[in-house]
Amino acid sequence: MSSRLFIVIPCYNEEEVLPITSKMFLEEMQLLIEKGKISNDSRILFVNDGSKDRTWEIITSLSEKDEHYIGICQSRNRGHQNAVLAGLMESKDICDITISIDCDGQDDIGAMEAMVDAYHDGSEVVYGVRSKRDTDTFFKRFTAESFYKLLNKMGVEAVYNHADYRLISARVLKEFANFKEVNLFLRGMIPLVGFKSTSVYYERHERIAGESHYPLSKMLALAIDGITSLSIKPIRMITGLGIGVSILSFIGVIWAIVSQMTGHAVTGWASTVCLVCFMGGVQLICLGVLGEYIGKIYMEVKARPRYIISERTWDKKEK
Ligand code: UDP
Ligand code: MG
Repeated sequence: MSSRLFIVIPCYNEEEVLPITSKMFLEEMQLLIEKGKISNDSRILFVNDGSKDRTWEIITSLSEKDEHYIGICQSRNRGHQNAVLAGLMESKDICDITISIDCDGQDDIGAMEAMVDAYHDGSEVVYGVRSKRDTDTFFKRFTAESFYKLLNKMGVEAVYNHADYRLISARVLKEFANFKEVNLFLRGMIPLVGFKSTSVYYERHERIAGESHYPLSKMLALAIDGITSLSIKPIRMITGLGIGVSILSFIGVIWAIVSQMTGHAVTGWASTVCLVCFMGGVQLICLGVLGEYIGKIYMEVKARPRYIISERTWDKKEK
């Protein structure tokens, strides 16, 4: 049984990488076509996420050279998650399966065959999971591990060591289209759709060329977004903290009254200053957490479009 596959590839300032990896994607696609696992009308869909370099020119020239390459262009840079979403939504009505993958060659392109096989065996979602993290620094390994642990503790169902390399069937995508949130954290949202899923393990390589667009600050922002978009546990924890501190202060008041009555009045100011500073810090952190949620509500209420496509390579020809 062969299915129409769309490989969805977000690209932001990737002029150094695209000429190399586009060939690798096409080779893999041709292999899968020859083996009869996918149909010949499968496509490699590049999503140009408002790049400032020659990325879009490269995509359009690729689409002129081989019909398997197609591309869409976002009206401006909106970030990786939105670019992937744009590609998936564009594909959902015209293909049977999608595989999203980064364009820098870090994710093992060869793992696509196992993903397609898993789909033919009945899985509607196949997660690409990193088997090892040797290519990462100790710091990245440590932060990534802590992040997944924290996500699970907060009740977010995310597959450990899986980022955004995954196969999703068009059936699941059509259901996923009803998830209208503006704050996107795809790896935490896709499991919520349900359906049969499985994982395929692969080794992640170094970036082929260029530099990562995800410095620590962006990773941290993604982590906070991931938790606050999908879990309200932090707010519950604040309530718990508030109750705990209230009980402690009640005991403190009783202790102060008893000390006063027994003639052992509290004289030190240091303890008072420490307490005030501590409570001030705790309250500011709590306000910050609440603010994070209010900000999310604000963005969701505005319900602005999550992506805007300004151009398609097939505008002039057929898909
Ligand atoms: N990307 C994107 N929009 C952005 C930033 C990145 O579409 O604003 C793409 C980028 O071209 C790449 C993928 O998202 O294909 C992952 O980015 P990157 O390799 O920089 O992240 P890392 O692998 O270092 O986490
Ligand atoms: Mg990368």
